[in-house]
Amino acid sequence: MGGATPEERIDTVVVGGGHAGLCMSLELQRAGREHVVLEKARVLEQWRSARWDSFTINSPVAFSRLPGQVDDLPDRARGVPLDVMVRAWDECVARRRLPVRERSEVRSVSRTGTGRFLVEVAGADGPRRYAALNVVAAPGRHQVPALPRCAADLDPAVRQLRVGTYTKPAALPDGAVLVVGGGQTGMQLAEELAHAGREVHLATSRVAGTPRDHRGEDVMFWLDRIGSLWAPRDRCGDRHDPMPVVGQDHPLSHHSLARLGVRLLGGLAGVAEDGATVMFRDDLHANVAHAERGYREVLARIEGWVAALDPAERAAYPPPTPEPAWEPHRPLLESTPPGSLSLRDNGITTVVWATGWSADFGWLRVEEVRRSLDARGFPDTCETTVDGFFWLGFDGLRTCSSGTVSGFPLDAAHIATRLRDHADS
Ligand SMILES: Cc1cc2nc3c(=O)[nH]c(=O)nc-3n(C[C@H](O)[C@H](O)[C@H](O)COP(=O)(O)OP(=O)(O)OC[C@H]3O[C@@H](n4cnc5c(N)ncnc54)[C@H](O)[C@@H]3O)c2cc1C
Repeated sequence: MGGATPEERIDTVVVGGGHAGLCMSLELQRAGREHVVLEKARVLEQWRSARWDSFTINSPVAFSRLPGQVDDLPDRARGVPLDVMVRAWDECVARRRLPVRERSEVRSVSRTGTGRFLVEVAGADGPRRYAALNVVAAPGRHQVPALPRCAADLDPAVRQLRVGTYTKPAALPDGAVLVVGGGQTGMQLAEELAHAGREVHLATSRVAGTPRDHRGEDVMFWLDRIGSLWAPRDRCGDRHDPMPVVGQDHPLSHHSLARLGVRLLGGLAGVAEDGATVMFRDDLHANVAHAERGYREVLARIEGWVAALDPAERAAYPPPTPEPAWEPHRPLLESTPPGSLSLRDNGITTVVWATGWSADFGWLRVEEVRRSLDARGFPDTCETTVDGFFWLGFDGLRTCSSGTVSGFPLDAAHIATRLRDHADS
């Protein structure tokens, strides 16, 4: 007995109940604006189901809280187990009674003839529609694991895992592991597997490094102090560059991995016809040099700021000491990486794909907004050419932190000042 789909007129719909959507909700609540957050799974779903067992959030607690979150975690703590962080975020959502509807997937956002947005939802309690004055889209940029096409060519005898299916080293079949992707995830997993005694091969990529600590503090406090986190987006370099690599609570570099015994390779180039030979680009040393440039560039930025202090202020900070993780590992620098590797000959039984993610905007039916996505299919500002439609949670929307947890509150506060009050405005 299908009745008419319930329809609600509402001021603002927020698409996505991740960190970004929740920051928006807190800001809307503060401004007294009627809204609903529509989340297709559970609130903060990506943190619950798309990480691995030992995962801890990289940033210290001070940079990972929701606005107004009250907890007893020290500001400077890092390496806090994910379940502890998720509990603290959940408590904040419950205490503030945020209007989140879980298991409510936005299937379509289009425009109505009256200038509102029609938001169509498939939910646990049936379909529902909202006629919204404003839509803030915060569906996350890590929705669909991006696997290279050649993953399908691999010998089926080789186990393939990725973030979301990888849990811990002990869950892998015996044997060596090839980790593909040298961003934060790939480097952290390679390190975890090496610590667990696995033979690990890592196909690297061009990702900047960063110090973990400097002058006695986590680098995030320095980037905050010198204004790098909140710098306008045109001062952040290429906003599509992956996040610089750090270990979860310690420094991490190609050199530290090589010292652990990880065999570093160039970037993945493809899989041979036999399905059991993997080919690599000749870019290992370029990738190592690129990471190191990133590390040195951050240090130089901080040191430039320190140098401008008067001597008394400067004396308040401990002297800089280089991180041992970045000490060059000669055998790595002198190595000649192979152009291909036989999985069988090297006893590789598992390939872990750490090759990034793509977003999913399949629900977006506002053509003008779609057309304004950049060449890579991502939004590049919070505002769009369509009044009342906003993006939140993507790199470089407004500041160098627009794509990270620490930067969402600032962008959410900005969007809250731009919402429409009338459909004809
Ligand atoms: C492995 C990994 C580790 C990371 N570690 C860190 C870290 O340590 N520190 C850090 O700052 N950042 C980290 N990030 C980046 C981090 O994920 C983001 O900074 C932040 O969590 C993104 O929040 P978000 O709300 O934009 O996206 P998400 O957390 O992805 O939330 C988006 C939400 O929208 C929902 N959604 C999507 N489409 C729809 C729809 N059509 N209808 C309804 N709901 C929908 C999704 O279910 C999801 O819950 C990491 C990312 C990855 C992949």
